[in-house]
Amino acid sequence: MIRKKLFFREDTKAQIKKKDYVEIAMLADILELGKDEFTIISPLVPRGFESTRKFMKHGQEVKPKRYYSLDQALNDGRVPVQLREEAFDMIQEHDFCGYSFLPLGRDRRKRKVSLVECLEGARIYAYSKQVRGTEIIVRPYDRSKRVRIDGAEIVCSVPSRTEKQGKTKFKLVSVPVVDSREKHAVSLDIGSDHSCPSKRFNIRYKYTDDKESSGIINVCCHEIAAYLGIIEHYWGKKNIVPLQMCQFAIPSQKIVDFYLRLGNNVLVKDLSLGSEDKLRKPDRGDKEIALWSQVESLGYDKTFYSKRSRDGDVADYIWSLE
Ligand SMILES: [Zn+2]
Repeated sequence: MIRKKLFFREDTKAQIKKKDYVEIAMLADILELGKDEFTIISPLVPRGFESTRKFMKHGQEVKPKRYYSLDQALNDGRVPVQLREEAFDMIQEHDFCGYSFLPLGRDRRKRKVSLVECLEGARIYAYSKQVRGTEIIVRPYDRSKRVRIDGAEIVCSVPSRTEKQGKTKFKLVSVPVVDSREKHAVSLDIGSDHSCPSKRFNIRYKYTDDKESSGIINVCCHEIAAYLGIIEHYWGKKNIVPLQMCQFAIPSQKIVDFYLRLGNNVLVKDLSLGSEDKLRKPDRGDKEIALWSQVESLGYDKTFYSKRSRDGDVADYIWSLE
């Protein structure tokens, strides 16, 4: 049987059902649930999508301001975290399957990032810092003259979430590490040679009704965890460029607490199920939408912006329910 490592394990449906039932008025109340309480919500994926999988592929995306040339990006001058803040703070609904950005370089496939992957990436990173022998290993190739323009290539080894499975090794390319004009374009071109079920889950082919979808790259938790390792590596050398130009939303401890409750204290009443109680755990789409609902009500700063003075270091986040 495939089992998750203890750090990543969530309560099963049967375990959750044994907790004390609490009724909630809105999704935000999930944050108030105690360790031994649970609630029941309705499925969150909007009608019209036949499955959560279809929703994660074809649902609406949040789009931080896009540039179509390096000059445009330079004229604006803002860095990714500011563009995300603007876009996240503008949403007036929460049925989103992620956010996306468009590269300017050779590989123009849209990069799509779901909040669930951002959370799981932060969880893998915290695991690698809190459990001995699981460190993320980062080997940069950043000496070439082209690094200013093309970004660094960095070979990363990231621990797996599954028991008895070794680290997965891959190369991130176009990593911004030089404080240059080109860093704006470099960060948008981020890519990798990594492949895993979380990436393939969303593979999407050409749809004639979508001008942007001549292929799409889904960023996964392993790549985000690796990037957090890269931020730390360069931070240690007093180089803040990887952090400054990070295209991935880094969660606050508060949204981590909310996410943990989604996995351990919430069941979904789904009338389409064959089982007698019609209950299941929240699926990927439910979790993604619930996370966006918190972005909508609390704003970017409290949810997907990690503030050291308030949250401490992402490496030290608490990933268990108190
Ligand atoms: Zn992956």
